Amino acid sequence: MTKCAECDKDFDVSDARDEYRAEWSAADEAGEYDELYEGALCGSCALSQTGSNLNAGQAIMMVNGDMDYDQNHVDMYL
Ligand SMILES: [Zn+2]
Repeated sequence: MTKCAECDKDFDVSDARDEYRAEWSAADEAGEYDELYEGALCGSCALSQTGSNLNAGQAIMMVNGDMDYDQNHVDMYL
Protein backbone atom coordinates (compact mmCIF):
# COMPACT_ATOMS: atom_id res chain seq x y z
CA MET A 1 0.00 0.00 0.00
CA THR A 2 1.06 3.56 -0.68
CA LYS A 3 -0.12 6.79 0.87
CA CYS A 4 -1.67 9.33 -1.48
CA ALA A 5 0.18 12.65 -1.52
CA GLU A 6 -3.09 14.50 -1.92
CA CYS A 7 -5.63 12.97 0.45
CA ASP A 8 -3.40 10.82 2.74
CA LYS A 9 -5.45 7.75 1.96
CA ASP A 10 -3.67 4.39 1.66
CA PHE A 11 -4.12 2.98 -1.79
CA ASP A 12 -2.91 0.28 -4.12
CA VAL A 13 -1.04 1.60 -7.17
CA SER A 14 -2.48 -1.05 -9.48
CA ASP A 15 -6.01 -0.15 -8.34
CA ALA A 16 -5.30 3.51 -8.95
CA ARG A 17 -3.97 2.68 -12.41
CA ASP A 18 -7.09 0.63 -13.22
CA GLU A 19 -9.36 3.36 -11.93
CA TYR A 20 -7.53 5.94 -14.01
CA ARG A 21 -7.64 3.80 -17.15
CA ALA A 22 -11.33 3.14 -16.72
CA GLU A 23 -11.86 6.89 -17.03
CA TRP A 24 -9.19 7.91 -19.55
CA SER A 25 -8.12 5.66 -22.38
CA ALA A 26 -4.40 5.60 -23.21
CA ALA A 27 -4.99 7.45 -26.46
CA ASP A 28 -6.49 10.47 -24.70
CA GLU A 29 -4.65 13.74 -24.30
CA ALA A 30 -4.99 13.08 -20.59
CA GLY A 31 -1.86 10.93 -20.50
CA GLU A 32 -1.05 7.76 -18.63
CA TYR A 33 -1.33 7.29 -14.89
CA ASP A 34 2.20 5.86 -14.73
CA GLU A 35 3.64 8.77 -16.62
CA LEU A 36 1.94 11.44 -14.56
CA TYR A 37 1.33 10.16 -11.06
CA GLU A 38 3.22 6.93 -10.67
CA GLY A 39 2.41 5.84 -7.15
CA ALA A 40 1.98 9.40 -5.88
CA LEU A 41 -1.77 9.90 -6.13
CA CYS A 42 -4.69 7.56 -5.57
CA GLY A 43 -7.14 6.94 -8.41
CA SER A 44 -9.69 9.57 -7.49
CA CYS A 45 -7.08 12.27 -6.81
CA ALA A 46 -5.31 11.42 -10.09
CA LEU A 47 -8.61 11.71 -11.94
CA SER A 48 -9.48 15.05 -10.43
CA GLN A 49 -5.93 16.32 -11.03
CA THR A 50 -6.07 15.35 -14.68
CA GLY A 51 -9.53 16.86 -15.00
CA SER A 52 -8.33 20.21 -13.70
CA ASN A 53 -5.18 20.07 -15.86
CA LEU A 54 -7.29 19.51 -18.95
CA ASN A 55 -9.72 22.24 -17.99
CA ALA A 56 -6.88 24.69 -17.35
CA GLY A 57 -5.32 23.74 -20.69
CA GLN A 58 -8.60 24.45 -22.45
CA ALA A 59 -8.94 27.79 -20.66
CA ILE A 60 -5.47 28.79 -21.93
CA MET A 61 -6.45 27.77 -25.46
CA MET A 62 -9.56 29.93 -25.17
CA VAL A 63 -7.52 32.93 -24.08
CA ASN A 64 -5.13 32.37 -26.97
CA GLY A 65 -8.01 32.12 -29.41
CA ASP A 66 -7.33 28.49 -30.26
CA MET A 67 -10.71 27.42 -28.98
CA ASP A 68 -14.19 28.97 -28.73
CA TYR A 69 -14.10 31.39 -25.81
CA ASP A 70 -16.20 30.57 -22.76
CA GLN A 71 -15.96 33.20 -20.03
CA ASN A 72 -17.32 30.93 -17.32
CA HIS A 73 -14.78 28.24 -18.09
CA VAL A 74 -11.92 30.74 -18.07
CA ASP A 75 -13.09 32.26 -14.77
CA MET A 76 -13.33 28.88 -13.19
CA TYR A 77 -10.04 27.32 -14.29
CA LEU A 78 -7.57 30.15 -14.77
ZN1 LIG B 1 -5.93 10.63 -2.99
